[in-house]
Amino acid sequence: DKGLVLPPSISPEEAVIVPIYKNDTKAAVLTYADAVSAQLKAAGVRVVVDSDDSSSPGWKFAEWEMRGTPLRIEIGPRDMQAEKLVLARRDTGEKKIVPVAEAVSIAKEILADIQKSLYEKAKAFRLEHTQNVADLPGLLEYFGAEGMGTADAHGGFARALWCGSLACEADLKTKTKATLRCLPLGDQEGIEGSCAVCGAPAKHRALFARNY
Ligand SMILES: [Zn+2]
Repeated sequence: DKGLVLPPSISPEEAVIVPIYKNDTKAAVLTYADAVSAQLKAAGVRVVVDSDDSSSPGWKFAEWEMRGTPLRIEIGPRDMQAEKLVLARRDTGEKKIVPVAEAVSIAKEILADIQKSLYEKAKAFRLEHTQNVADLPGLLEYFGAEGMGTADAHGGFARALWCGSLACEADLKTKTKATLRCLPLGDQEGIEGSCAVCGAPAKHRALFARNY
């Protein structure tokens, strides 16, 4: 388990630069890191340089991983000498040594790739964990009343007809803690029948889910 990985689109920082230095290389490495940071910012990447002297690079790696920051950039004196830097992606753990001249374009490619791959994973998860539910007893069984859902419902979605009334959704939430997640575009054809929650004529096909 890799823990939290935030999609670049919602992470406060898309990338963090961790400079690695000793006393004699500190000034040069920090200047170099700031220059890389400025280039990334100019290209629209939200990046910070973690130049906090009170913790080690290893500690910083762990801290930013815990925060789910999608991309880490490591810069040490040897990288600087070779005009290179290290890109480490949070989702796969893959590390790449790249020339600094190409760092911005490669960093942007990696961020776009992480965004896409997390989106595909979430979509696949949703498809795998969706069950058709026809009525209120079915919803109660799927999500459980009083916080006791069936095992299958953990993180799962119920696909059901819905009347569109907010009071109806609120009633479902009271009974099961499940809320409306979306009215999937492309899944609104042939809506005939009753709202699974209240029995009124259905207007939409909806996905409901609980927070765990
Ligand atoms: Zn309803």
